Amino acid sequence: MSVSVISNNLPKEKKGAFSRVPHRIGKKGQRVTPSARAIAGRVFGLTDPKKENSACWTSYDQLHEEFGIARPTVAAALSQLKEKELIRKSDRDRSGTALQYIGEAGRTYDIVPLYLYTADITIAEKKRRLTKAQVLILSYMMTQAKRPKNDGKVETSIKRLHKLLALSETTIKKAIRILLKAKLIFRSKEDKGANKYKLTTFHVNRDLYEYEKFRKKKKVKQPTDTRSQATIAADARADRERYYAQRRAEMESRVEKYRLKVYSMAPRIREIEEEIQAMAPKIARAEFDKLPTYPILVEKERRLVEERLTLMKRFNVSEEKLKQSYYSLCKDCQDTGYLPNGKPCTCHLHLRRQDK
Ligand SMILES: [Zn+2]
Repeated sequence: MSVSVISNNLPKEKKGAFSRVPHRIGKKGQRVTPSARAIAGRVFGLTDPKKENSACWTSYDQLHEEFGIARPTVAAALSQLKEKELIRKSDRDRSGTALQYIGEAGRTYDIVPLYLYTADITIAEKKRRLTKAQVLILSYMMTQAKRPKNDGKVETSIKRLHKLLALSETTIKKAIRILLKAKLIFRSKEDKGANKYKLTTFHVNRDLYEYEKFRKKKKVKQPTDTRSQATIAADARADRERYYAQRRAEMESRVEKYRLKVYSMAPRIREIEEEIQAMAPKIARAEFDKLPTYPILVEKERRLVEERLTLMKRFNVSEEKLKQSYYSLCKDCQDTGYLPNGKPCTCHLHLRRQDK
C-alpha cells in the first residue's frame, strides 16, 4: 500500500512506543473509563513488579501529548485510578511524577501502539481521531491478527468483545463501523457473521503495523548456554516435535469443527459417507472373488459419490475445508514438518519467533 491511511503524530522517540494493556484492569467486575484505562495500561507496562523503583515518570503535558486528552480529563483519570487503588504516586520532582501500577490485572493483554491515540484518520475526507474505545478494539484485532496461527485475520463477535473489553455492545458496533469506514480493518462479504457461531472474520490493514519500524532495537546479550551440545540438540528436537504435534492437533480440530457443522446442516452427507465406507471391503472382496455383484456395487458407490457431491454443492460445502491442509500455515510442508522430498522443514523456527 502506498498511501498510509493513518498518521503517526508522535515525536520521533515515541513513534515506535507501545504498551501491553491487560484485558482486565483491576479486580473482576471493576470498571474504569477508557481514558483511565489507556493511562493505566501505560503505567502498567512501565512498572516492573520485581523492581522496587520501577515506575512511569510522566506529567500532565506528557500524558496530554501521548493520549490526546485534555488536562481535566487526565486529572479525572488519575484520581479515578488512585481512588480504585490501581496506581500510586511513588515519587515526584520538577519534571513530573513517578506512577506505579499496584492493582490487580488480567493475564491476557493487547499490544497497544501508542500512536493510535493521537493519530489522524480520514473518513469521508475529514480528519479525525479514534476514541479510546476504538483504539482498544483496534489494538485487540491487531494483536490477534499478528499471532501466527491467525494468519493476519481475527475471528470475533460483538458478544466476545463485550465480554473481553468491558465495552457496551452499542459502543463496539459503532466502533467497528468507524474502523471499517476508515479502512483500518476489512471484512469480506461471505464472512459477515453468516455462520451460526456469529463470528465475523476481520483483516487488519497492514499499514497499522508501520510503527514497528520505529521500535528501538535493544541489544540483548544472550546468556551463555551451559547445557551440553547433546542436550541442546535433544531439546531442540523435542521443541520441534511439540510444535508440529500442536499444529496437527489444531488443524484436526478445525476440520472436525467444520465437519460437524456440515453434518448438522445436511445429515444425509454423513449417512452417505458411512455407507461408502461400509461398502469398501465388500467391493474389494467382490472384485477379488470375481462375484457377479461387483459391477452392481461399483455402480451403487458411484451414485452415492454423486449424491454427496450434489448435496455439497447445494449446501455450499467446501471440500477443501474438510482437509487439514486448508488450515496449514506453511505451504511447503503443510505443517507436517517434512517437505515432499522428505527433508525436514524449518518453518517452526520463524513461525514460532513471530509469536514472541
Ligand atoms: Zn513447513
